[in-house]
Amino acid sequence: MQESLPINSIYEAHEGEGLHVGKPQIFVRLQGCSIGCLNCDSKDTWDFSQGEKTSLQDILYLLIKYRENLGINRVSITGGDPTHPIFEKALLELVSMLKKKDFYINIEASGTRVPSKLFDVVDFISFDVKTPSTGVKIQPQLLDTFLKQFAHKAQIKSVIETYEDFKFVLELKNSMSPTFEHWILTPCYNTEEDFPQTRFKQILEWNYAAKSPFRIIGQQHKWIFGSKEKKV
Ligand code: SF4
Repeated sequence: MQESLPINSIYEAHEGEGLHVGKPQIFVRLQGCSIGCLNCDSKDTWDFSQGEKTSLQDILYLLIKYRENLGINRVSITGGDPTHPIFEKALLELVSMLKKKDFYINIEASGTRVPSKLFDVVDFISFDVKTPSTGVKIQPQLLDTFLKQFAHKAQIKSVIETYEDFKFVLELKNSMSPTFEHWILTPCYNTEEDFPQTRFKQILEWNYAAKSPFRIIGQQHKWIFGSKEKKV
């Protein structure tokens, strides 16, 4: 049987956050996530029974059309949770097909698993370290395992809502050896918030007070389009 993946949406947008902010990409948003972050901004992607089952050939065809029309060669595989084991076999095949066509591939990883085979074949990994306000408990040894293998092509991202979140990532970073440079803190947006200016400024101050260990980068798509707009 031909492999397929449940797709929430495929769309063009400029990367809104992290080290590659501003780069045009085609986002392939998978449907399905079992992690349940309290402050998730994509709850419509949780239900594994939703989404449109799309063959890998059709996904490849679409991405080639996007490239022909818009000149975009970067693909960001996101979700949902693209590192959920249910997607691994099909994703490995899709990445192999895309690499044969010279696409650059970023994967947005939830930070709860390290699927080495998949991480080996993508070009860049954005690895979440969940903070206390997400309600998700992380395993620090998983971060260790990840960085030992993939630090050369990765960024870590943490969404910061409270000082407790900041303290948590600071302690974790300080406990690491060697330390990792590309750890980015993203101020959380609450529902209805257009720009979390106060929180943003506080996080900058906390970073100075800690001797500036992190990069602080906001989510530019949210301040351009508003926090509720999808596919941007
Ligand atoms: S891992 Fe991502 S999609 Fe899943 S609940 Fe957390 S933020 Fe939402």
